[in-house]
Amino acid sequence: MTTTEETPRTDPVAGLAAVRQAVDSACARAGREAGSVTLVAASKTVPPDVLARTIEAGHLVYGENRVQEARAKWPPLRERCPEIELHLIGPLQSNKAREAVALFDVVHSLDRASLCQALARECARQGRMPQFFVQVNTGAEPQKAGVLPDAADAFVAACKETYGLDVRGLMCIPPAGEPPEPHFALLAAIAARNGLPLLSMGMSNDYASAVEHGATHVRVGSAIFGARPPWTAA
Ligand SMILES: *Cc1c(COP(=O)(O)O)cnc(C)c1O
Repeated sequence: MTTTEETPRTDPVAGLAAVRQAVDSACARAGREAGSVTLVAASKTVPPDVLARTIEAGHLVYGENRVQEARAKWPPLRERCPEIELHLIGPLQSNKAREAVALFDVVHSLDRASLCQALARECARQGRMPQFFVQVNTGAEPQKAGVLPDAADAFVAACKETYGLDVRGLMCIPPAGEPPEPHFALLAAIAARNGLPLLSMGMSNDYASAVEHGATHVRVGSAIFGARPPWTAA
């Protein structure tokens, strides 16, 4: 694990270029087309002036963890650049479904029926349908969000058939301090047997390996923007 605490804040535009390059090299090693991986720049705690620079440099896909933070930061940036694609990569409370549907183009954290129900209602009400990833708790960690691997097939089917949500893929956050590869492989296997083409996996420490295991979306923060101030998951 890299400790980023003492690393000075990198230039985010250079950080982006370096990560993009590493993603493309991993694609080449895996015999995949360059550009077959979407780099979601994980921008929690990153201030708008820094984001304005990476947007200016041409990067348009961002992931936020909290509805509240996204609501505060992104509407003005999007007004200046409507092509921005905003992803919710953190957990979502059902009572924030309305705002989430209004703000986000893609939600990576679908993991329970009550949330599906709230989202389906909002999608109908707003006439807007984000794309969804189902989050799978591949390490079956008690504190972690996501459906258990054994429950994933039935949950994916319910998301689509019962709730009519546009589920495109699966997402995972492997347990800290373990090799992530078995988790990437498990996620890919569950997606394949459910006919889901997209895989959201890989963060700053392991995105190259995730790409070699088939990631279509990597969520990378500190490798682009530098160390974050202390941040606790909601
Ligand atoms: C913060 C975060 C990331 C990015 O983490 P880094 O290690 O900074 O790249 C990716 N996914 C989720 C869900 C996150 O919360």
